[in-house]
Amino acid sequence: MTRGALVFLCLCAVPVAAQEPAVVVRAARVLDGRGGVVTNADVVIERGKIARVGPRGAVPAGARLVDLGDRTLLPGLIDAHAHPAWYFNRQGRLHTPRDGDTPVQSILAEAANAYRTLRAGFTTIQSVGDARDADVRDWIATQGLPGPRILTSLEPITDERLSPDSLRAVVRARKAAGADLIKVFIAASIRDGGRQTMSDAQVEAVCDEARKVGLRSVVHTQSDESVRAATLAGCTQVEHGIFVQQASLDLMAAHGTWFDPQCALVLQNYLDNRPKYDGIGNYNAAGFAAMERALPLTTAATRAALATPGLKVLYGTDAVAGAEGRNGEDLVCRVEQAGEAPMHAIVAATSLNAEALGLGDRIGAVAPGHEADLVATDGDPSQDIAAVRRVSFVMKGGRIVRNDGAP
Ligand SMILES: [Zn+2]
Repeated sequence: MTRGALVFLCLCAVPVAAQEPAVVVRAARVLDGRGGVVTNADVVIERGKIARVGPRGAVPAGARLVDLGDRTLLPGLIDAHAHPAWYFNRQGRLHTPRDGDTPVQSILAEAANAYRTLRAGFTTIQSVGDARDADVRDWIATQGLPGPRILTSLEPITDERLSPDSLRAVVRARKAAGADLIKVFIAASIRDGGRQTMSDAQVEAVCDEARKVGLRSVVHTQSDESVRAATLAGCTQVEHGIFVQQASLDLMAAHGTWFDPQCALVLQNYLDNRPKYDGIGNYNAAGFAAMERALPLTTAATRAALATPGLKVLYGTDAVAGAEGRNGEDLVCRVEQAGEAPMHAIVAATSLNAEALGLGDRIGAVAPGHEADLVATDGDPSQDIAAVRRVSFVMKGGRIVRNDGAP
């Protein structure tokens, strides 16, 4: 790293000073993330937090006005399932531990992904996960590295040969290493059929121990039986579930289990970037054929989930290499392919996700006392969801990260 780069990072790291003047962000409309709309609105920000939201008024003495004109302001978006550590190396292939990249190069790649994700309007992500995430998370939080707030599981738990007691020990080790949540694979990859790989007793051990140490459990499932196992074990959040049946959707609703199906982005991204993945592990001919078959099924599972009364369907994209910075695509899919109302999708990716992540009192809404995480789009995504592709303003914790066209 050059000295110039170091100076740049240090300048970014200056904390928001207590005496920093208030900022008024003015926009044609504000979507508050809970379904409400304020037109011709001012959002007053003090010390990195939202102090007031209301109709346009006089700008307080000493405050700075940021006028976004006809743009639509909404809470910073949240992705409950991201993989910022995944990247394509400089040979244009998926990075693997044996491709020659150094740990420093890998962490720079993750930092670039974090910045790309933030610029796309995602001010918080849940990474599930990678051991490298801890440093990136901490440098963003305290050292001025630009990126979204990151919650991470660190290394996911995948070893189905471990006894329930050994799995409990791994959960405690993740907690001790600073994990914000536990990620466990209890089913095979969609490329390998998605059958349940851990016994019900193993699933129960992981999710019960996570609860005992105060962490949420996020579970990779695919087969219907794996969705049921995670639900009955009291796990917090169930991922994917491409083969889920209606009875299991109803079961999750009855148990208050969060469900995170993906609409299309993750599978479409693999198919679009096939040459960069092909030949690595299960990214082979059979794996790609399985993903082609699964693409309509994952959209159908999303549609069925959204139609299930009482089921809490959050928003997580599973954005891997090639999809970072396009985390908004599944919002478009959910509305255009899975029948969701645009405002409902926006609420999922903001206040509902914040609640799922245990951060409902801090982020996910344009409301007094919340972090000033704000995004503006050209156009109104509550009318045309594709406007989420046109993010042109991003503020995180009261700091402007992006404001296209500003002088
Ligand atoms: Zn994933």
